[in-house]
Amino acid sequence: MISDPINMSENAEPSPAPVKQPILEMSERSLIHWMTEHDFPKYRAKQILTWIYQKRADDFQDMSDLPKDMRVLLAEHFSIFTSKTAETQHSEDGTEKLLIELADGGRIECVLLRDGPRRSICVSSQVGCAMGCVFCASGLDGVDRNLTRGEILEQMLRLQKLLEPEERLSHIVMMGMGEPLANLPRVLDALDVARDGEIGLGISPRRITISTVGLPTAIDKLAEENAPYQLAISLHAPNDELRTRLVPVNKKVGIEHIMDAADRYFEVSGRRLTFEYVLLKDLNDSPLCAEQLVKLLRHKTAMLNVIPYNPVPGLPYETPTPEAIHTFRRILMDGGINVMFRQRKGNDIQAACGQLRRLREREPQMVTLQVAENSVGNTAIAETVDGEE
Ligand code: SAH
Repeated sequence: MISDPINMSENAEPSPAPVKQPILEMSERSLIHWMTEHDFPKYRAKQILTWIYQKRADDFQDMSDLPKDMRVLLAEHFSIFTSKTAETQHSEDGTEKLLIELADGGRIECVLLRDGPRRSICVSSQVGCAMGCVFCASGLDGVDRNLTRGEILEQMLRLQKLLEPEERLSHIVMMGMGEPLANLPRVLDALDVARDGEIGLGISPRRITISTVGLPTAIDKLAEENAPYQLAISLHAPNDELRTRLVPVNKKVGIEHIMDAADRYFEVSGRRLTFEYVLLKDLNDSPLCAEQLVKLLRHKTAMLNVIPYNPVPGLPYETPTPEAIHTFRRILMDGGINVMFRQRKGNDIQAACGQLRRLREREPQMVTLQVAENSVGNTAIAETVDGEE
């Protein structure tokens, strides 16, 4: 709220600094409304948003085609970024990870992956996660809150700023901290801007993947929105007994319901589904699991993404042996499953979901950039899930 001098009595306490309105929370429509209220032409809204999302401006003063007094007013009224980058990690393979501190002190992570011409980003949707997957660092302390649309967009913009001026973001995966389908309205609002070619990032929805633990009602909602995005479902087990052990939220859902929702999504989108499978030593890496997976996925237009586990310090889970991975892969391929084993990306930094935040919470003295030397295993957030585009 902007302080109102007319209502200040002589004895009033000095008013606190006015809180600025975060402009990333505003849709183009609401910014147009603001322009009209302040007697500015409507087209100024588009100009400002283009500066922010396309020309990478983070200061109203840099918006050189706006009148000077307008820039001053905008800077008084609005903020662009509300968070700060608490830490940046660089991997030898070009992967960069940001630990972002939100205005209320919450911490989230996001990642830029460089792969040939691709510039993919992995973005968080919540502070923490409520799904409770036993092997994942993000959810070990539960969920604090949903991210706002502006906080989701801010991750994209901060990662975009890491690019050279002539480079563009090409792919987005909603695979950072949190469950995107548990925060669907804000995720969809942010993705609307990500795909908007006029004022936004102009990334085709075919190059945007939403990764979910598998929440059927929300998958149906996404289908009702005409399913423009790639859907990736984190399966991790071929039967309910095992899946409920690894992904406790499965108890209330069940694989069958997830598969039905996935089929409905496929009917609407016509796009190949992706299933994610984190391979955990002696838990879900047996030949029997591979055979059950073949039965489950055989008749689907789907791809299975197998991700050897990236160990989380303090958790007892391990990456399978190369032999177990080899056998697992052979059974799937012999069964006619379209399977992809992820490449290592960012494995010399804490690149898997929630790892960096956790490391910093556990060891707060490590504030400078530190590349973990003994980190083994693969990242959860390698390149874009769906290979072709
Ligand atoms: N909640 C969503 C998106 C976030 S997690 C989902 O469940 O899909 C993104 C992916 O990374 C999920 O498949 C998750 O199970 C996986 N993952 C989490 N921690 C991992 C780790 N340490 N190693 C490998 N994959 C991991």
